[in-house]
Amino acid sequence: MNRSIHISILLCLSFAAISQQPRAYTHALSLMGSAFEVTAVAADDTLAWHAVEAGIAEIQRIERMISSWDPKSETSEINRNAGISPVKVSPELFQLIFRSKKVSQLTGGAFDISFAAIDPVWRFDGSMKTLPDSAAVRASVAKIDWQKIELDVTNQTIFLKEKGMKIGFGAIGKGYVANRARAVMQEMGIKSGLVNAGGDLTCWGHPPQGGQWRIGIADPKVRDQAIAWLWATGQAIVTSGNYERFTILDGIRYSHIINPQTGYPVRGLKSVSIMCADAELADALATAVFVMGKEDGLALINQLRGVSCLLVTDTDELIASDNLPLHFYTKSSPQDSVQHDFQIGGKP
Ligand code: ADP
Ligand code: MG
Repeated sequence: MNRSIHISILLCLSFAAISQQPRAYTHALSLMGSAFEVTAVAADDTLAWHAVEAGIAEIQRIERMISSWDPKSETSEINRNAGISPVKVSPELFQLIFRSKKVSQLTGGAFDISFAAIDPVWRFDGSMKTLPDSAAVRASVAKIDWQKIELDVTNQTIFLKEKGMKIGFGAIGKGYVANRARAVMQEMGIKSGLVNAGGDLTCWGHPPQGGQWRIGIADPKVRDQAIAWLWATGQAIVTSGNYERFTILDGIRYSHIINPQTGYPVRGLKSVSIMCADAELADALATAVFVMGKEDGLALINQLRGVSCLLVTDTDELIASDNLPLHFYTKSSPQDSVQHDFQIGGKP
């Protein structure tokens, strides 16, 4: 081929590549028992697709490590050895448990991965017909104590000091995998994207049309509608709702977030949304604020720099922390007709 023709073909091809508008590639699937969406925005189809699949593979890898249901996971190994012996774990799991204990400290124990000792007592799949026996609740609560999760830095071991203790990452794992999927995609060169890990969302860069990502927070009463919309980038927005998993006994709704002090599901709030840069922290704090309740929860969030929250109370009050930095408006706003890109906190 003549050299000048060759060059002009190359120029045409590169012009086509440059002029191609970035598009959003999304893979929606069920992971960790929840609905996930992984999105990459890029002009290069192949790169976007590979990045999304790599993000998903990262989530699946972590799920195999932290799942309490999978008998082969490192977490199950720790639980099986409660009160028996320390278990050597990967640096990654060691660090996750270390950070989980930090959040317990920060929240006065409202967030506690050792809540899982209560697992056999409550079932939130509709199969429970009566309240659990209060003696069984008391016996399980006695096994909940984050300070009895012993970390040996030198040997990289974890030891649950008492028999019957158990840890579970239900309230922090989805935030962690959202962070990791994002990191993997960013390392592959994805400048804009979004990971929605079952209501735990992190976004970066811009949606294809430019500007910021518009995120709808589900109305606990009408879950496919937004109660508030936020504009975000480089942020995590995480929602925990009492409508996700619950059981109704004698007309009272019992949801899956447990007060580690009492062993009973928490009351008072319908949903808690936390905004901050780190999806893992946001996930853990959403659960903690649920447990702490409106006053104490707000007081905590108002003290944390770079963290804000939006609460929906049992009486449908919408309460924002003092430092909510993002513009938001409620459904009654005239701008309600603006399209939002993603909705979290509800699976219609
Ligand atoms: P969602 O799953 O709706 O995002 P959360 O992030 O609040 O909600 O996680 C709730 C899950 O966390 C529960 O299903 C349970 O596995 C676990 N959990 C419940 N209570 C606590 C608690 N006090 N501290 C830590 N984890 C908890
Ligand atoms: Mg959580």
